[in-house]
Amino acid sequence: VVSRLPSVGTTIFTVMSKLAQECGAINLSQGYPDFNADDLLFERVAHWMRAGANQYPPMAGVPALREAIARKVEALYGTAYDVDSEITVTAGATQALFTAVAALVHPGDEVIVFEPVYDSYAPAVELQGGKVVRMRLCAPDYRPDWAAVAAAIGPRTRMIMINSPHNPTATVWGAEDMARLAELTRGTGIVVVSDEVYEHIVFDGACHESCARHPELAARSLIVSSFGKTYHITGWKVGYVVGPRELMAEFRKVHQFNVFTVNTPAQHALADYMADAARHLKLAAFYEAKRDFFRDALGGSLFELLPSRGTYFQLARYRAIADEPDSVFCQRLTRETGVAAIPVSAFFADGHDERVVRFCFAKNEDTLARACERLRALA
Ligand code: PMP
Ligand code: GLN
Repeated sequence: VVSRLPSVGTTIFTVMSKLAQECGAINLSQGYPDFNADDLLFERVAHWMRAGANQYPPMAGVPALREAIARKVEALYGTAYDVDSEITVTAGATQALFTAVAALVHPGDEVIVFEPVYDSYAPAVELQGGKVVRMRLCAPDYRPDWAAVAAAIGPRTRMIMINSPHNPTATVWGAEDMARLAELTRGTGIVVVSDEVYEHIVFDGACHESCARHPELAARSLIVSSFGKTYHITGWKVGYVVGPRELMAEFRKVHQFNVFTVNTPAQHALADYMADAARHLKLAAFYEAKRDFFRDALGGSLFELLPSRGTYFQLARYRAIADEPDSVFCQRLTRETGVAAIPVSAFFADGHDERVVRFCFAKNEDTLARACERLRALA
């Protein structure tokens, strides 16, 4: 076959998790919790299944869930989205991102992304015949260079894909970044796709700068989130997208033929569960404690820890341990040390390697403690 994605292999998350399993290593690579979600969620799913909520829900999602999403977004960020026409429930954030790109990017359109970039963005753009324009974020601070973004924007720019809090760098954009983004897209036809899956995981009292907090940006943005991150259920694959009516109409044209709709009992259960806002509001403190535990436990190791301001990831430099490519280091770390991590070069199209690896700390303290004991022993 003539591949539509000739430069794409198997995602790094699958590669590293498989290796971790084969080696019996502690898996701090792929981002998912090793602890279970709240029993109440399971009770609600069982309830709705028994109650007969097992057939197709409406194409845009169960109304009660869309209402809960609308209430949350307005309460936190101040923008009111219309439940009927501006909110769609998706099969996780991945499908939302893919569908947004498929709905809006025409062949030859340019899409700006920030590298290191989450691995699903570029293939989604390329499959539509779009051109990916990469803006590089550099260690250790990974700040966007807004002058370079301004220079990259041209008549073919159709979309800018952003992600804050950012996977894999754990950086968080501030209000000044959003102001720059608003300024650069003002008066253009550029659509912002804002991947906010880690919206509730922001540390040290910082505030999540959702596009929905900035009315001008909200008017040209599709905002994507995921219940997988917020409620410790990555395997449920339920997320959502909110955005202005005209963009959402285009989104739904594709969504209806991509998945049509997503899991009914899970949507009802999530609608019930969202009623208590304390659940998502407590998430930042929950993960901040894990971040601090993990960083403390790596004190005295030879890893140089970069700041982690959000997400459940921690970047670390390993130059003092080995001078070798990050992919080689991660393979050896998994096989020889028994801890799996993600090589950050995997998030760069050209394999740019700054000798940095990503650890996921969405784990029980016992798991983190065992992993850190092994990592501290590296000399
Ligand atoms: N975007 C980012 C930045 C992510 O980290 C992830 C998941 N790790 C996703 C999208 C995909 O989310 P989902 O599992 O809901 O598809
Ligand atoms: N987003 C998760 C991560 O960054 C993995 C999701 C996936 O495996 N596709 O690790």
